Amino acid sequence: MENCIFCQIISGDIPSSKIYEDDHVLAFLDLSQTTKGHALLIPKTHVRNVLDMSQEVAETTFSRLPKIARGLQKATGAKGMNIINNSEEIAGQTVFHAHIHLVPRYSDDDSFSVNYTVHEPDFVALGQLAEQIAKEVEQ
Ligand code: 5GP
Ligand code: ZN
Repeated sequence: MENCIFCQIISGDIPSSKIYEDDHVLAFLDLSQTTKGHALLIPKTHVRNVLDMSQEVAETTFSRLPKIARGLQKATGAKGMNIINNSEEIAGQTVFHAHIHLVPRYSDDDSFSVNYTVHEPDFVALGQLAEQIAKEVEQ
């Protein structure tokens, strides 16, 4: 897609530091290097984000994640990894070609953290919400 940075990386018009490539996906180092080895996995098909992904693109993209994550861990000596997708602006998406962040983790005070607010569970509300969502998930 014209004007898409990641499509231009796939076509080679913009250079990238590739770590894995096959017919369906490309993985390369993120310029920001949030932690050492921070990488992105993208489908070669232009799709906006996970909310827009077909099952076929999801299968070819996500199935590559474990082996890329393992290679990244082996190469960097990371103790673990945060695997993140930001879908839409409210969730922090800035490049609108679907991508999965692989952020190797080294210690509690490395340059990445995830903060969740934990609420007291309301089991009735959880049950009702789960039912409502389950109805909307395509079988
Ligand atoms: P988002 O905020 O959309 O989840 O993540 C977009 C990511 O793409 C950011 O972490 C940013 O550093 C990275 N990025 C943006 N432009 C380029 C580029 O031209 N090359 C590489 N390698 N990464 C990029
Ligand atoms: Zn694209």
